[in-house]
Amino acid sequence: MSKRVFLSLGSNVGDRAANLREALARLSGAGVGVRRVSSFFRTEPVGFQAQTWFINCVLEGETEKMPLRLLNTLQRIEWQMGRRGGRRFGPRAIDLDILLYENAVVRLAKLTIPHPRLAERRFMLIPLRELAPHLRHPATQRTVTEMLSETHDTSQVIRLKEDSNPSEGT
Ligand code: ATP
Ligand code: CA
Ligand code: CA
Repeated sequence: MSKRVFLSLGSNVGDRAANLREALARLSGAGVGVRRVSSFFRTEPVGFQAQTWFINCVLEGETEKMPLRLLNTLQRIEWQMGRRGGRRFGPRAIDLDILLYENAVVRLAKLTIPHPRLAERRFMLIPLRELAPHLRHPATQRTVTEMLSETHDTSQVIRLKEDSNPSEGT
């Protein structure tokens, strides 16, 4: 039985939109059916100053993989795309996170689902709202729209006109 998942994709190194597209293609080839993809957004880095802005999106996918297998797949793709450790929130060609996995609540040392910082991040919530505004967080029961209106995050998240060809700088 395939499971519905929402994944967050982010990049702030190199051709960021191309990196997101490459990751989407690699996910499709690795057992994660890509059903829908949000717009791409330029997003202000959270946590570290003086970094290039990220480009972020969220995908709705379908997979047969169990949560830890899915995490392994994401980490393998990050590795294939040049991720070599690096500090959290630091620059990276690609960051792939699991936001939601059906209505599962997972609390393991290496995997928390829903993503533990989902409600604190406009760069996750705004793309997610495009795909599923009424979806509920399985632990808090808040909808995506409610989480967005309640979040304390004020960082900028700017939708790109063309997801394939961001023309703006920074
Ligand atoms: P953040 O988790 O705040 O977005 P990050 O994505 O920069 O930070 P990483 O260095 O990419 O952090 O990942 C650190 C660890 O987070 C991973 O090795 C993984 O085991 C763990 N992790 C826990 N929950 C999740 C999740 N829902 N999706 C992806 N990784 C997760
Ligand atoms: Ca992340
Ligand atoms: Ca990550």
